[in-house]
Amino acid sequence: MADGATEVAVIGAGLSGIAAVIALRRAGFDDVVVLEKSAHTGGTWRDNAYPGCGCDVPAMLYEYSFAPHAWKRCFAPRSEILDYLRTTASDHGLDRAVHHGVEVLEARWDAAAHHWVLRTTAGTRTARSVVVATGPWHRPRYPDIPGLDTFPGPVFHSARWNHDVDLTGRRVAVVGTGASAVQFVPEIQPRAERVDVFQSTPQWVLPKPDYALPPALHRHPVVRRAFRGQHYWTQEAIGLLLRHPRLLPPLEAMARLHLRRSVPDPALRQALTPRYRFGVRRIIASDTYYPALTRPNVRLHPTRVASVQDREVIGADGTRVRADVVVLATGFRVGAAPFALHGADGTTLARSWERDRRAYLGTSVSGFPNLFLLPGPNLFSGTTAVPTAVEAQLHYIVSALVHLRAGGYTSFDVRPEVQDAHHTALQAALRTTVYNTADGSGYYFGLPGVNTFCWPWSTGRLVKRLRSFAPDAYLWSTPPRRPGSAPLLSHAAGEHRREK
Ligand SMILES: Cc1cc2nc3c(=O)[nH]c(=O)nc-3n(C[C@H](O)[C@H](O)[C@H](O)COP(=O)(O)OP(=O)(O)OC[C@H]3O[C@@H](n4cnc5c(N)ncnc54)[C@H](O)[C@@H]3O)c2cc1C
Repeated sequence: MADGATEVAVIGAGLSGIAAVIALRRAGFDDVVVLEKSAHTGGTWRDNAYPGCGCDVPAMLYEYSFAPHAWKRCFAPRSEILDYLRTTASDHGLDRAVHHGVEVLEARWDAAAHHWVLRTTAGTRTARSVVVATGPWHRPRYPDIPGLDTFPGPVFHSARWNHDVDLTGRRVAVVGTGASAVQFVPEIQPRAERVDVFQSTPQWVLPKPDYALPPALHRHPVVRRAFRGQHYWTQEAIGLLLRHPRLLPPLEAMARLHLRRSVPDPALRQALTPRYRFGVRRIIASDTYYPALTRPNVRLHPTRVASVQDREVIGADGTRVRADVVVLATGFRVGAAPFALHGADGTTLARSWERDRRAYLGTSVSGFPNLFLLPGPNLFSGTTAVPTAVEAQLHYIVSALVHLRAGGYTSFDVRPEVQDAHHTALQAALRTTVYNTADGSGYYFGLPGVNTFCWPWSTGRLVKRLRSFAPDAYLWSTPPRRPGSAPLLSHAAGEHRREK
């Protein structure tokens, strides 16, 4: 590049960052670097090393379309997914592109040079375009519990599991009952002396039809496609019910039956029965969670944790339990701005997202030129597998970058009115879905009253929409001419062009 800037910097080497480099290279973009703060690739599947961690969508949907894998089971464990991601990265020569141990601390758009200035732990570098693939589920959420910091034993988050702590014969207090707790509680129950599970909100839990996949399945592409298709359409059928809540009762009945069959004790069953519609929170499937809660050494406390005093964990209802170890299963700060990202007018993304978190097609944010969020807000339904959305986004991102190159432009920025129109339509469509029957709070509400997570239409529509890149949605430009200097490009300096 004439200004010494890298053509594209990808921040993060998880599932999304890996796919980004592969897609960019395939489209002829070779000047690509990946900045990854950790020493290893793998993102979510590197960090979440808790016992029992695994995929909760069928594994065949949790793969790149260009790298089908012979999954051993219907739902893949963490180790197999991590292995798959690393093998795919290495097969595509990613090791050359990834700079490990480099954390991006701040990014600033240089409006004169039309590039991003990235301040990192390894110095400053510049990039013409940036793909932010830092992971919606990357930053653990730590609860603000008075006294927790004075607890005399080990305390750790499920996403940063402390494997040095042996739970054998220990009293473990688990704070939270989301997707991670549902996976690890059955795993730690047989070794722990006692497990006290604090539940502030009961979850809907569906049966999990996990089984070994015959190797022959993967040898016959037609059979494999049919099998994968069956998983895909099952997920889409559930998605349809979530968008039309009047159709949900059969699914709710199935979850209630699962609870009744697994938990004979009516009081425990009562405590585990949700008081909100199925689908308002992230969908959970497990055949082992409910049975684990019925074991003699496990106690469910249907209350949030109010405080910790010495070795005692105290519930809001006055429950007191003595614990040796506290495990926080309190989820993630989903989708918050990952670091200080200063746009064209110097405002940070966090600032402009304070009251609203809008992005055009979950990918571009007005005022933040040459930048893509992978993935950004409002791209997922309760049932879309992340790789499907990410690959669709990459099709879009590559189209934008090809247009930038082919047109000889140096900057593009989504038009605010296009972004606003998309946001208005999206929020209007969400109103009739089950996701928005919550009181404006809960899993999908990144901000009070604003659903910042969900895509209100089908996955097919998401893919189709992201596959048709419309240059007219953006303002395309070249750098403003500095006094006395020749224009950097042949067309008018500083010109903003609206494509026809
Ligand atoms: C326990 C768990 C189970 C899940 N199960 C499913 C599932 O079943 N199905 C599904 O579709 N999704 C699931 N998800 C969501 C999962 O996070 C995504 O599917 C996917 O892994 C996201 O990949 P990513 O690359 O976007 O983000 P990540 O995997 O989080 O990777 C982000 C990368 O960016 C790096 N990074 C972050 N900040 C910086 C910085 N400032 N500078 C440099 N590098 C940085 C991180 O170190 C990390 O390597 C699950 C998530 C969790 C936590």
